[in-house]
Amino acid sequence: MHHRHEQIPIALGPSDRMSVHGQQQLGVVLGAVGAGCTGCAESALDAVAADPAAVGRLVEITRRTAALLHDGGLPDHMTSRATVGELSGEFRFLVCAITEAADPAATAAQMAVAQRRTAARTAALVLAEYNGDAYANARDSVLSGGQTLSEACLAHAEQMTTWWQRKNSRQAAAARAGWQQACEAEGLQGHELLGERGTVFVLGAVLHRLAREAGTTTDTIHTLPYTRILPLLRDPRTVVRTVREFVTPPALEITGMSVKRLACDSPTFAVLGLWTEIICRAHAEDCTRHGPGHECTLADRAALLTPRTDAA
Ligand SMILES: [Zn+2]
Ligand SMILES: [Zn+2]
Repeated sequence: MHHRHEQIPIALGPSDRMSVHGQQQLGVVLGAVGAGCTGCAESALDAVAADPAAVGRLVEITRRTAALLHDGGLPDHMTSRATVGELSGEFRFLVCAITEAADPAATAAQMAVAQRRTAARTAALVLAEYNGDAYANARDSVLSGGQTLSEACLAHAEQMTTWWQRKNSRQAAAARAGWQQACEAEGLQGHELLGERGTVFVLGAVLHRLAREAGTTTDTIHTLPYTRILPLLRDPRTVVRTVREFVTPPALEITGMSVKRLACDSPTFAVLGLWTEIICRAHAEDCTRHGPGHECTLADRAALLTPRTDAA
């Protein structure tokens, strides 16, 4: 007689198109993976592969778990588009597509069943490796309010933007009006209000890219010379790619999706990049240590950005 594992219940959203069978079998895969039994996970994969929505969800669960374990970003071997790699290309393709705001189920539906099975199998193997102390610790740290690197970058972006708005209220009002006009001119609906929130997102995403390239962690983020994003901001294609690939923390998922979709297909997106550049430059110019040989860091701005209660 075949043995059984706990079946993990899968919650469905209002627009979820997962079949009842796919939903059950995904629960079987996750239960088997949690119990460390690859045999049972393997035998439920055919049913999962038959349902694009179930495959999309499995890859999304794996993607989120990985981001949680890697300080808010995804490990390079999970997102590399190169044809070789230890993880299947089908899996990496789905991970990248989901990060770039594609619908998981719709993207999986465009793949052949065999390709979906390969993607689902890789996802199950990755999850199986994550089970253990490292996974439990990372999950507990995030659940108890620990900040990931992407959250830290977004928090800095928020502070930098708020400071600039207060200090340059007239320029900020003009930028906001310019944004609304650009949205209207392009016939964009519902994006008029994105303004500063969009800028915070773009700034957070480019800071995150810079932090990862510099090997910065949440503990050392203050040492980051943020002015190095200025050359990056002058290259629109890099900004678009950075924003699309940025792994959004759950709290900002909705803003993130709006900005990512704009980045994909709207010329108005460039306005956000320009806005971000103005904010960054204003910070560098305001720094009292500003001058030759000084590379301005987030720490240089920290005293200004954090309201001080002891200021006379
Ligand atoms: Zn088993
Ligand atoms: Zn400085």
